[in-house]
This record gives sequence, C-alpha cells and structure tokens, in this order.
Amino acid sequence: MKNGVMMQYFEWNLPNDGRLWKKLKEDAATLHRLGITAVWIPPACKAAEQQNQGYAAYDLFDLGEFEQKGSVRTKYGTKAELIDAIGELHKYQISVYLDVVLNHKIGADRKEKFAAVEVDPENRMADISVPSEIAGWTQFDFPGRKGMYSPFTWHSHHFTGIEVEDPAGGKRIYRITGENKHWSQDVDPEKGNFDFLMGADIDHKHPEVIAELNCWGHWVAKELHLDGMRLDAIKHISSTFVHQFIDQVRNDETPNFYFVGEYWKADLPTLENYLKAVDYSTDLFDVPLHYNFHEASTSGEEYDLRDLYANTLVASSPSHAVTFVDNHDSQQGSSLESEVGRWFKPLAYALILLRKDGYPCLFYGDYYGIGHQESSQKNLLKTLLKARRKFAHGEEKTYQSHPNLFGLVRFGDSEHPGSGLAMLLSNSDTNMSLVMNVGVQKAGQTWIDVTGSVKGSVQIEKDGSAEFPVPARSLSVWANPRKAGKSFICLSEILKRIKPRAKPIAKR
Ligand code: CA
Repeated sequence: MKNGVMMQYFEWNLPNDGRLWKKLKEDAATLHRLGITAVWIPPACKAAEQQNQGYAAYDLFDLGEFEQKGSVRTKYGTKAELIDAIGELHKYQISVYLDVVLNHKIGADRKEKFAAVEVDPENRMADISVPSEIAGWTQFDFPGRKGMYSPFTWHSHHFTGIEVEDPAGGKRIYRITGENKHWSQDVDPEKGNFDFLMGADIDHKHPEVIAELNCWGHWVAKELHLDGMRLDAIKHISSTFVHQFIDQVRNDETPNFYFVGEYWKADLPTLENYLKAVDYSTDLFDVPLHYNFHEASTSGEEYDLRDLYANTLVASSPSHAVTFVDNHDSQQGSSLESEVGRWFKPLAYALILLRKDGYPCLFYGDYYGIGHQESSQKNLLKTLLKARRKFAHGEEKTYQSHPNLFGLVRFGDSEHPGSGLAMLLSNSDTNMSLVMNVGVQKAGQTWIDVTGSVKGSVQIEKDGSAEFPVPARSLSVWANPRKAGKSFICLSEILKRIKPRAKPIAKR
C-alpha cells in the first residue's frame, strides 16, 4: 500500500486474559488516527496451551471456536471477537494480516509408532542411529471440532520429523523414514538442513498436506475477511510449497492479497535468493536492517552511520522490504533477542517512517510497552507518524559525509501542500549541525524541530539551504509547521508568540 504503515499488534509477554481482540476493536479508530493502515495480528489458531503465543500451532481450523486444549478461547480471545475486531478495523480501511504458522504442529492428541532415525542436531543430514520404530506425538484428531470445516486428521506420514523428550534431559530430533520421506531440500542450509524447527515438522512435499493447507488458506482468508498473511518461519519451509501456497491463496478474486515472510537471517544474498525462488510473490522483513540498527545501538559513536543501509533488503529490493525496528522475537527475553538499544530506537523509527523506501512496521511493544511497563517512546512515535503523514512526501536526498551524522531531506509534493522535511540523526557524543538544502521553493520559511528536541527555529535561506542542529545521540526533524496545521507548533513557539499584554485588565 502506498505510504502505508503496518503495526504488529502484539508482543511476547501479553497477559493471557483473552482480551487482545477486544482491545484491537476498541483501538481501531485510534489506530486510524495515528496513520496505521494495516495490522499484523498474532496466530489466531488454537495452540497447544491456552497461554501460548500461538506459535505452538495445534488446530488451524479452530480460531477460538471449539472446546479444545482446555478452553474455547485462545490467549487473545474467541473467533467471534476476532471477526468483530476485523469488521471494526475494516470500517477504518485498516487491512488485517494474519500470522500463519505452517511449519509445524504441537500438542498432538495421541502418540503413534513409526520408523525414524535420530539426527545430529547440529547437522540434520547426519543420521546418528540406525532406523528403528519409535513412539511420538503425531496424531491430531481434533476431538472438540469433530470434523467441522475439514475432516482431515494428521498422522506420522504427514510429517518429516519430530522432537522427543530425552529422559536424561533435553530433546532429540528424529527424522521420520519411509518411501519419499526426507527433509525438504529447498529450505535454509543452516545446520545441514533447517527443515526441522520444533514440534512435529510438517512434510510440505506430501500431496495430502499440500491440498489440506491450500484449502485452509482459502478458508481462513474468507472466514476472517483477511487482507493478507504474515508467513512464519519460512526458512524452515519448502520454498516450492510457499510459492504455490501464495499463488493458491492470492487467486484471481483477490490479486492484491498481501504476503510478508519471516526469513530470519541477516544475510542479504540469502534473502535475495529467496525472493527469486518464490518469484517475488511475497515481501520479506528486512532482518539485516534490524541487525544494523542493533549494532549501531550497541556501538555508540564508534558506529559509522554510513553503514546503516549496507547489505539491507530495503537498499537492494525496496519494493519487497518490510522495515522494522523490533518485534516479538527480538524483544528482550525472546528467542532471537537482539533488541535495539533504547537511545537508538527513535533514530531507527525516524529512518523507517520518514524515508521513502520500505513498508514500515511499528511494534506494539515499542508503542504500548512490554508487559506492565509503559513505553517511553509512545509520544515520539506519535510525532513521527504525524510527520510521516504531513511532511514525508516527495523525492529524497541523503547527506552522509560525516560518520556520526545521517541527514535526510524529503522535498515534498504537490499532493500534500506544505510537505517536505529535513531530518538529522546523530550518534555523536556532542551536539552537531549540518547544512542541508530543502529546495528553493522553501526559501524564507521558518522551520522548527517537530520532535521538540531542539528549541527555536531555523530560517531557510534564499538558495533553499539552512544549517540544522541536532543534539548529541539524538534526532531532529525539521519542517514548516504553519502549512500543516497548528498541532505541530511546539509549546515553546506558542509561548513566544503570546505577546505580553500592554496593560493588565482592570478588575471589574
Ligand atoms: Ca519444516
């Protein structure tokens, strides 16, 4: 979507109170006002346990509708509440992307016996036992759903491998053997072959599995009136399967159905190869950019800001990059912990929200806070979202002559009167400034820092240039607030304009 902003509407530590869908509904109008045009919602399918975030996928067809795994609702609420929330979001033209977990299943109803071989967890292509019969949790009957929507039940032959608790502690990985049984070859090559991630690994080469998952994709898109999907853990799933799944779900009726894939690897050639393999049918999260932000945030002044976009997806394939700062996996305490340091977050958000390229994704945890801790970034994020709507239009020019400064000018466009901005980021330990040219058509204007971190104003010279200051380890975003409504005038500016009265008003 042109100039859209996605919000990841959950974080890892949300309470298990079944209230997220209700909160989302209540929030729809506010999200719209903020400029959010799409929400990525967590996996809505029944998980192995109620408190699970949804990635321990048990029954794809149970969206919080059947008494299974101890309750009807999921961690986030019931199916009826979800449909209600989506209806409300659609009233505000906010698109909804469901998080879709197709790599594995967890929480089987019964154990089965099947032939398998143990593999080396560090090299899954290496067998470390002879084939033998083992017992594992692979039978999924969904007794609470009783065949509603789909009569399909899952058995060991629908999976490639499984993890089994080791009585001595830890888990062992077994590859299920048999005719045409092996790991998918078109997955990430890490650990020899990264098909297996957790639980019972779905065999995406099996014709019955392909048919069932495609059928589910159609069903869930229609049932929930979805506008798109976020595909979980695709580095562990056959790219051939993913490509055909996307084509099946995004059919002639819904050619604009949106996909973004989570390929968690900070390696640009891998991401580019993946895009090619699926014929650019999906966007990908810009994981390398996230890691650049993370590194910049831990290196302080030593980091050369000219490297921020090195080897990033948004630089190489801007129309397929979803840019983000943090998410539920990178947040503190999560599986892929790499949270961007607090001081750098405003700078990172300014980059993803105010630059031209990339589809930015705002993280719930950064806006609302994590667990019971309120976010300290909320007001700044509101300001940046507003700056994106009002000022971040038109062509852009970057200024990167100094290792500690990143300058950006957006020249504005005729569709958005008064648009255009100058942004300056600094990781220097001292206050700095930079001359940038915002265009001769802005000559004579008085610009202010809408973030409020620099007080006072800057006068644009006849040739369109001006010297813009920025505080140490901070950012400033300069624009002409008069053209964009009063809401952007800083308090200090308003106070300056209130002229002292000549005479006190006489008391009556
Ligand atoms: Ca897999």
